[in-house]
Amino acid sequence: MAGRDASPLDVTGRVRPALAGFEPYDPAFTPCRINLSANENTHPLPASVTEAMRAAAVSCALNRYPDPMANGLRDLLAVWHGVKRGNVMVGNGGDELLFNLLFTFGGPGHALVTCPPDFSEYANFAKMCETPCVEVWRDARTFEVDADALVDAARNASLVILTSPNNPTGNLLDPALVRRLLDETDALVLVDEAYVEFAGTPSHLGEDASLVSWVAGCPRLMVLRTLSKAFGLAGLRAGYLVADPGVIDALASIRQIYSEDVMAQAVAAAAVSRRRELVGVVADVVAERGRLAAGLAAIPGVEVWPSAANFLLVRLPGASRVRARLRDEYSILVRDFSYAPGLADCLRLTVGTREENDRLLDALSILAREEA
Ligand code: PMP
Repeated sequence: MAGRDASPLDVTGRVRPALAGFEPYDPAFTPCRINLSANENTHPLPASVTEAMRAAAVSCALNRYPDPMANGLRDLLAVWHGVKRGNVMVGNGGDELLFNLLFTFGGPGHALVTCPPDFSEYANFAKMCETPCVEVWRDARTFEVDADALVDAARNASLVILTSPNNPTGNLLDPALVRRLLDETDALVLVDEAYVEFAGTPSHLGEDASLVSWVAGCPRLMVLRTLSKAFGLAGLRAGYLVADPGVIDALASIRQIYSEDVMAQAVAAAAVSRRRELVGVVADVVAERGRLAAGLAAIPGVEVWPSAANFLLVRLPGASRVRARLRDEYSILVRDFSYAPGLADCLRLTVGTREENDRLLDALSILAREEA
């Protein structure tokens, strides 16, 4: 029998109907000398932090299963944010937690409200979990959220996701809008703060821009954070949710039990313990963001939006071609959003190191002129 038919199995008709048509995620990655495409942190971390993480990694007992709930890491995160262990859930990146939230609180008849253009995974995960998605589009020029339209839509929804700062537009959310959603609707409200460490004064590591301190007094508010951005640990896969213990328990009962591996738990714990030492890195990214934004704004034909995150959204003529030429002629990779609704001719540029940003500015000023 084996080998009777070597052609790949056609699974059409076998796949769960809600999952038909999905394709493997394509980050459009091409190896380049400078990669500013995925909002990672390209600034080197202090040696004291990398040493502590390395020591934590090598002392892991890999023959043992991880602590399923990552309680050591939960405790450190809870102390940082002034909450209890029972308010914190750790996941294999924020992505896992987003999926699990939709899996748990979504489903047919349990609508999700989003404010696109935003992080595309919200709509993807909603679809996978058969969750109707109601889109309240941001203003086409400023990308601000229409508060009244959002509150109206949220009245009939189970879950609202707001991103602050928003990916890919960079806007920070008005906390008054979250207050209104909590007061005027019955929905669960998730504020995705993947980039919040870059939003406030760098020495506060995001706490002055975050709504995490509201969680204790607002049972329907949930805040998502990640170590993938400011902590420079995108490859580690460590994200976390701060929420009411009822939400955490519901998520705990459906999660893949060992999704956060031994090494990720240990390395994340080392990084969180030494987070004060990352303030300089965040300050550098924030300073570079300002310098890059000013440099971009000075290039004729380039429009740049203000951003509270570690990336900038720009619009320029022939954006797709410019992106391809940046890649092919300058070995600089950035993200093309020009195909996305509302983002015609837009590119998203991760803020890199000073040298990376200078190369990007030099290349863009040439290409913008040639493609104009
Ligand atoms: N939320 C937003 C807005 C993001 O941009 C990302 C990553 N690009 C995530 C969540 C998930 O990040 P991770 O899974 O790396 O924690």
